Amino acid sequence: MTRQKQPVLKVAVNVPLSRAFDYLPPADGPAPPPGCRVRVPFGPRQQIGLVLAHSTASDLAPGKIRRCTASLDETPLLREADLRLLQFTSDYYHHPVGEVVAAALPALLRQGKPLHPVVETIVATDLAGSTDVGALAKRAPRQAELLETVTDAGGNGIEADQLTELLPQWRRAASGLFGKGLIERVEVRAPDFDEAVAPDAQSGPTLNQDQQEALTALRGSDGFAAFLLEGVTGSGKTEVYLQRMQDMIDTGRQVLVLVPEIGLTPQLVARLRKRLGVEPALLHSALPDSVRLAAWRAARTGAARLVVGTRSAIFTPLANPGLIIVDEEHDPSFKQQEGLRYSARDLAIVRAKQLDVPVVLGTATPTLEMLHHCEKGNYAHLHLPQRAGGAQPPAIRLIDTVRAPATDGISEPLAAAIGTHLEAGGQVLVFLNRRGFAPTLICSSCGHVAECDRCDSRLTVHARQRQLRCHHCGHARPLDDHCGECGEVVKPLGEGTQRLEEALRQRFPDRRITRIDSDSTRLRGAMTDALDEAREGAADILVGTQMLSKGHHFPGLSLVGIVNADQGLFGTDFRSAERMGQSIVQVAGRAGRAERAGEVLIQTAFPGNPFWATLIGSGYPGVAAGALAEREITRWPPFTRLALVRSAAHRQADAREFLEHARQRLEGHCGDTLRVLGPVDAPMARKAGRYRAQLLLQSSDRNALHGVLRELRPALEQDPFARKVRWSIDVDPIELF
Ligand code: ADP
Ligand code: ZN
Repeated sequence: MTRQKQPVLKVAVNVPLSRAFDYLPPADGPAPPPGCRVRVPFGPRQQIGLVLAHSTASDLAPGKIRRCTASLDETPLLREADLRLLQFTSDYYHHPVGEVVAAALPALLRQGKPLHPVVETIVATDLAGSTDVGALAKRAPRQAELLETVTDAGGNGIEADQLTELLPQWRRAASGLFGKGLIERVEVRAPDFDEAVAPDAQSGPTLNQDQQEALTALRGSDGFAAFLLEGVTGSGKTEVYLQRMQDMIDTGRQVLVLVPEIGLTPQLVARLRKRLGVEPALLHSALPDSVRLAAWRAARTGAARLVVGTRSAIFTPLANPGLIIVDEEHDPSFKQQEGLRYSARDLAIVRAKQLDVPVVLGTATPTLEMLHHCEKGNYAHLHLPQRAGGAQPPAIRLIDTVRAPATDGISEPLAAAIGTHLEAGGQVLVFLNRRGFAPTLICSSCGHVAECDRCDSRLTVHARQRQLRCHHCGHARPLDDHCGECGEVVKPLGEGTQRLEEALRQRFPDRRITRIDSDSTRLRGAMTDALDEAREGAADILVGTQMLSKGHHFPGLSLVGIVNADQGLFGTDFRSAERMGQSIVQVAGRAGRAERAGEVLIQTAFPGNPFWATLIGSGYPGVAAGALAEREITRWPPFTRLALVRSAAHRQADAREFLEHARQRLEGHCGDTLRVLGPVDAPMARKAGRYRAQLLLQSSDRNALHGVLRELRPALEQDPFARKVRWSIDVDPIELF
């Protein structure tokens, strides 16, 4: 270390190295304070960095420290409290701080744009109004398509970035339209978040006794406290949050609400606006970058009193935070599965502690991690055991598919029940967690199964598109009626949602059937439209995947049929039972929410499996208690802590070799507190053309595990082998097998 005359800036740069970099302030100005962005020379290039701290010392010799090229912000984008969360995230997940900063900043700021950027916008001219689009479409279809999109956007036009998303090749078509004077380019200051548009707050129902008790408990703490609000679907959890949110907003503090990827429905947003009378600042990936940035700015200045977003919203700076809420705490989408592998749910608790504000985690099906924290007394466990407003819980029954076999996924008893509910004017949801037509294409003569060339997986049949698709790498190829090996006829085996939809159409030809899965809702807005229709009763039968099970209210729904629940009974992951309990209880919770009594029918070939007795007899709490007891004996989380080192390479030997080096480095540390398992092939050993392997670290002592990882990370960065593989460290992984 050498002492420096000038302050040394510790700068986070978006590169995969676990440290900050030293720079001197720009030649022509004062030292930018922590939280400001700077442009810095990095190797031969210029990079955007964020100042984390000032120091008087550096490891570099005085003449060796380079200067920032420019200061990009006049005032810090992030305050000390915000930076503290980023630093924690980097330390806890053993992830380079520059990449953490990049993940936390909105895209435009990450790219070095100003806090109030000017955005390229395309608007239609007056001339466009009198143009014959039909005629244009015949000569230049691309131009016509673009012109329509721009015209549809109205007088303010559409941002270039948004156009790129909708019509990736739009710039080619644009030159023609510019030439004809039909559209023009304007540079406008990006819109600001508009707080004024919210209506007056409306009051909600009077809370019942359970809700009142939960609310009283929440009101018991203005400073840090973590609450698990466990309430069956429809028990009125949201009503409880709303009251506590109102308290905070009334006293001028901000509320941050995290929702699962799919949970940020217009329905929820509308409810929040209406009840709280404030405009929520929204942060999720489907928004144009400039709109998202506007919400981020409003959170930062405090203009937005309510901030609602998915996973990465946990990093949003808040001027005056008062409360954090994590809705549907159990949802796996809170964990990022690539790059910076963080859990937004866990960071919400850390952030609440750092800010000294309460955090509320709500769900009908808590994770075992949260239940364990409650048992240990770390978090307060609040219960809403009954549906609000007198709605009855659904009755669950099993259908034995050995005795009553299913044809195209539907057994006779299920078909009969669907008929009965439809006759009675009810709506029906048929759930299957597998999209496509059939999961396998098999040759009836030689037994050959269609597999992906790039993954160790079978291709899924998508009949309508006449394609075979890999659900792991996205690879698609045309569906052939004949076997590639022997030339005989091939046939689809098993069911996906498409096949189920067709089977239902044949059985119930007069009924309106809507399928909702990631295939049917690929387009922006399609999901919302389909759900709106479903809610308004425009569909008699809904067929879909997990997407249907999350937080949607279907007032008329009276029957839920679960077509194939058995995959989870024999899962290899230690979380199988927990996951299966969550997914069944969540989807079952859609039934009978209003006045109608609901019914849930589950098809299984193993009705004698003890899982069912527990689920039907004592519900999710029973499943969770059983699974927790088992985890304690088998020493899986939450009774131990895990970290997974993954590697992937084009050569299988490289993927393994890298992890072998990692294992050797860990050898000295193994003992009572640390176990190292592997390296072994990943459960899907080849994906998208890369071989994958993994090394599991398990410890009963969290600090010991982190101590080891702290040494391991930089050592692996230095390993010459690291260049041959893609590797990552996943702390508290949720997908192991
Ligand atoms: P959850 O978030 O637990 O799924 P919600 O808060 O969305 O439950 O409530 C479910 C339904 O019950 C909503 O229509 C809500 O308006 C209604 N509700 C909630 N609390 C009450 C109450 N105390 N009295 C009457 N209706 C209620
Ligand atoms: Zn594939």
